[in-house]
Amino acid sequence: MNNYKDKRNSMVETQLILRGIKDESVLNAMRVVPRDKFVKTKEKNHAYEDHPLPIGHGQTISQPYMVAYMTELLELKGDERVLEIGTGSGYQTAVLSELAKEVYTIDRIKILSEEANAVLDELGYKNIRFLVGDGTKGWQEQAPFDGVIVTAGAPDLPVSFMEQLADGGILVIPVGRSSYQVLTVIKKTGNNIIRKECLGCMFVPLIGEYGWKKD
Ligand code: SAH
Repeated sequence: MNNYKDKRNSMVETQLILRGIKDESVLNAMRVVPRDKFVKTKEKNHAYEDHPLPIGHGQTISQPYMVAYMTELLELKGDERVLEIGTGSGYQTAVLSELAKEVYTIDRIKILSEEANAVLDELGYKNIRFLVGDGTKGWQEQAPFDGVIVTAGAPDLPVSFMEQLADGGILVIPVGRSSYQVLTVIKKTGNNIIRKECLGCMFVPLIGEYGWKKD
């Protein structure tokens, strides 16, 4: 156990702080969430390495740096309601749960959602709601959201996310081709929309009505 704690602290130092992640609350969340619980047994020894890992069903848990970077972009202070598209392993969900008031997370693959739900429940996270379905439509009944984070690559910006973003809200989403995207941040203030393109990234495809049409 301690071994994982050491690995986690070293991951934060070498992969996050040295690469410029500054938000103390994000760094603390990354120090606390046990990434080893979100990967398959045979991957546990690799849980704190600097790359994504397979989680089954053709999906991956994102690289720790990408999780920290995307979370930092959301500028969470603790009282936000956040929508996450792509529950996957639930690791990013746990990091969000540490930093926001409520997390709403959607995955289209039922078994992944159920497995993530079980792990997050066992770890004692209480502020998360799960939905199985096409996350490209957002979660209308629970909107608006202060933050929307998409952990799969979209061909374009789904209009639903823009509509369900609260005033002052931030959307973080990889946009581009199926094999390569640009991490894009949208900030909505009144009628004003600021769009910023950050780093290049490689996510699995966002599949659905406002995403890619099939696997
Ligand atoms: N955040 C996850 C990464 C998961 S990989 C983690 O930390 O483990 C991306 C996930 O997006 C996959 O689980 C995939 O099933 C899901 N996904 C793809 N298209 C989707 C859609 N339209 N709605 C919801 N989830 C989707």
